[in-house]
Amino acid sequence: MTRYIFITGGVVSSLGKGLASAALGALLQARGFKVRLRKLDPYLNVDPGTMSPYEHGEVFVTDDGAETDLDLGHYERFTGRPASKDDNITTGRIYLDIITKERRGDYLGATIQVIPHVTNAIKDFVLKGNDGIDFVLVEIGGTVGDIEGLPFFEAIRQIKNDLPRGACIYTHLTLLPFIPSAGELKTKPTQHSVAELRSIGIQPDILLCRSDRAIPKEERRKLALFCNVRETAVIEARDVGSIYDVPVAYHEQGFDAEVLAAFGITDAPEPNLSRWKKISQTIHNPEGEVTIAIVGKYTGLKDAYKSLTEALTHGGIANGVKVKLDWIESEIFEQDDPTPHLEHVHGILVPGGFGQRGAEGKIKAVTFARERKVPYFGICFGMQMAVIEGARSLAGIKDANSSEFGPAKEPVVGLMTEWMKGNELEQRAQGGDLGGTMRLGAYQATLKRGSKISQIYDTTSISERHRHRYEVNMSYRERLEDKGMVFCGTSPDGLLPETIEYQDHPWFIGVQYHPELKSRPFEPHPLFSSFIAAAVEQSRLF
Ligand code: GLN
Repeated sequence: MTRYIFITGGVVSSLGKGLASAALGALLQARGFKVRLRKLDPYLNVDPGTMSPYEHGEVFVTDDGAETDLDLGHYERFTGRPASKDDNITTGRIYLDIITKERRGDYLGATIQVIPHVTNAIKDFVLKGNDGIDFVLVEIGGTVGDIEGLPFFEAIRQIKNDLPRGACIYTHLTLLPFIPSAGELKTKPTQHSVAELRSIGIQPDILLCRSDRAIPKEERRKLALFCNVRETAVIEARDVGSIYDVPVAYHEQGFDAEVLAAFGITDAPEPNLSRWKKISQTIHNPEGEVTIAIVGKYTGLKDAYKSLTEALTHGGIANGVKVKLDWIESEIFEQDDPTPHLEHVHGILVPGGFGQRGAEGKIKAVTFARERKVPYFGICFGMQMAVIEGARSLAGIKDANSSEFGPAKEPVVGLMTEWMKGNELEQRAQGGDLGGTMRLGAYQATLKRGSKISQIYDTTSISERHRHRYEVNMSYRERLEDKGMVFCGTSPDGLLPETIEYQDHPWFIGVQYHPELKSRPFEPHPLFSSFIAAAVEQSRLF
């Protein structure tokens, strides 16, 4: 039987529902169960693809080309199971499908309503495609009481009665704030939040309580009594040093045991957590430290680069070092000399990005890395800026630019208008829709034998996830290669550039795809392991 665990949030947002879900998935997996994690997002966008990273944080791209919530990145990293487009849905997507059907006349004259049409669509989504899965964990975005969340809460309320008895539980994540003047952890916000849940018909089975200190016996008793849960079902979720400490910490508090008990499962094997313990051990006992500058645009909101920062951490794990990040707003290099900001760092990374603001600053960072022989990693936009830099500084193409920023005299980076997806030709036009129209998801690339990048991957054929609308214009290839910028990776048909490198530089690689999306703590991405290894080398020169 497939069992369902719904994870809702209360009191405030940003308590780490995604991580809690991912950690619970990892714990169940460590007991030998097959898990699947999914996310329901109540906002009206069809997907987060068109949202600013400031609004929503990183857009996580799946192999099958969906632009999804960043929590799917946590799910993948914690369980190693690749997410798909069927693991995330929004109100916007549900309404779009319903309205499309309505226009087609599929409802045969019925009045379309939130109950049952919207709730049924949510339930169909949640219940679909789970054959062979032991536990489906479904996280509901936002907090209880949000107006747009109501249809989702109603749908998950109904599901319990649709499923066989004992096939569904509810977990509620809340906050116990510490009030210094009272010297106490307060339970009242949690009580209110659970009262709100119960008023819409959902009785949580387990409370996962975030707090910055141990929950005293008395508060635990109060929470159990007023929220109508067992005392053992009040799980303390303390702040921990690294997100990779969370599974073990939750296990020690009895989270997974309580989940199994709520389903009446008494014979599950104990989880094997040795790899989680080992990874915590490595993270907390580094043998050195390197500093990487991330020169980007959304540096004020770290969630905008979630997978990237995780992949760098994984690169650190692979090398047994701590990776310290210096976040630099690229715009400042448009006024300031980059030298004082960059001369102490051991590696420079220009991540993915959109739009002109800050682009010239990123190009200056590239010049610094190239000339001073500091390891440079350019990801997507970061590769495009590296090519513009090389075109201007080395190939003498003074007006080299990207047509993303307006008409360019020398469009070294230009709009992609057609490419092959499998056997199908994808076509795009200037001024077309922005949502879901980029070159998205996993594409194969072929690497030149003997190139640095093929040595790093130890293969000449790779598959990586993409999310871009512009590409380096291959008609400039020869002029750039003459100056040492080698196009070592291309699409299998040779038409689209995928990677560049300078071979007379200790480590200078640009990739058109997003390797960070596939890096995992237990399988650090080879490019990140290699980049951090180069940074370790660089640190020895200081
Ligand atoms: N804005 C660039 C493009 O669309 C780069 C995108 C990215 O960095 N993901 O091609």
